[in-house]
Amino acid sequence: MTVALVTGVAGQDGSYLAERLAAEGAEVHGLVRAGERTVGLPAGVRLHQGDLRDAEGLAELVRRTGPDEIYNLGGISSVAYSWRHPVETGAVSGLGAVALYDAAWRLQEDTGRPVRVLQASSAEIFGTPDRAPQDEGTTVRPSSPYGAAKAYAHQMAAVFRLRGLGVSTCVLYNHESPRRPETFVTRKITAAAARIAHRGSGTLALGNLDARRDWGWAPDYVDAMVRSVRHPVADDFVVASGTTRSVADFVAVAFAAAGVDDWEPHVTVDPRFVRPADPAEQVGDARRARTVLGWGGTLAFEEIVGRMVRHDLALLTA
Ligand code: GDP
Repeated sequence: MTVALVTGVAGQDGSYLAERLAAEGAEVHGLVRAGERTVGLPAGVRLHQGDLRDAEGLAELVRRTGPDEIYNLGGISSVAYSWRHPVETGAVSGLGAVALYDAAWRLQEDTGRPVRVLQASSAEIFGTPDRAPQDEGTTVRPSSPYGAAKAYAHQMAAVFRLRGLGVSTCVLYNHESPRRPETFVTRKITAAAARIAHRGSGTLALGNLDARRDWGWAPDYVDAMVRSVRHPVADDFVVASGTTRSVADFVAVAFAAAGVDDWEPHVTVDPRFVRPADPAEQVGDARRARTVLGWGGTLAFEEIVGRMVRHDLALLTA
């Protein structure tokens, strides 16, 4: 039986991954922070309280659980937060990943059994990229504390590969689902569209409506992680849809899905939500993931938005 350890198991990706691994019959261990909400995780997932900043604690957890697969999905998930807390971001999302690689490498050395690791890397490692689309060869040149911490973890994955650890990275572009918190623009929009449709009135304050993102479906991105960790040759894999849409496009599709045809009277622009440095065009080229891993996205943009809106409408009428 496969034993898997998932950090960030209570987050969007962690919860989809835990469901998938549990359905496969794996023994799933999850790392959660003290006080973190864990409702909705499948029964049988064994939760361990801990902190990615605690290298000793992580090493002990890895030794004790003896995983075949480790998925590092934990960490700071917001660029905005990383500007307010750059030291914590580096410790959690940078050094925390390295602590896991080191613990995995030691377990592999001690047991003689391969330990595979998946690092959830991010398009933010490219900062403001000088070419589009970005792929695995694009220069790593982050422009935020979040991107820099992820870049360090990304580059240390390559260092540990040289040392003999099977650590792969998925360079993930934005990926959404009804489990996204409303701090992300997608869920903020779908929750508001549902609310406005339900009440027949209301407004939604947003930042830059022209910002463009490469949005995909979170369970598909989790599938890429599983394929990566199980591929015999550890490597970096860009995971992206390959097309961008603007925030305004997302709003139009979401309001239409909620049954509100004219969204413009309901949306205002609030400077508080406009970001000073927003990469103009983040778009990934996932050719390597498609050809080497046989990966592919299963849902079109409209369907992703539609599922999120239907979920939010159902919450209001439940
Ligand atoms: P990110 O790409 O990981 O930062 O994901 P977000 O969902 O937070 O932001 C996606 C894009 O939406 C960024 O370009 C934001 O500038 C833009 N955006 C526009 N209005 C808003 C808003 O009200 N909230 C958030 N979070 N983002 C917004």
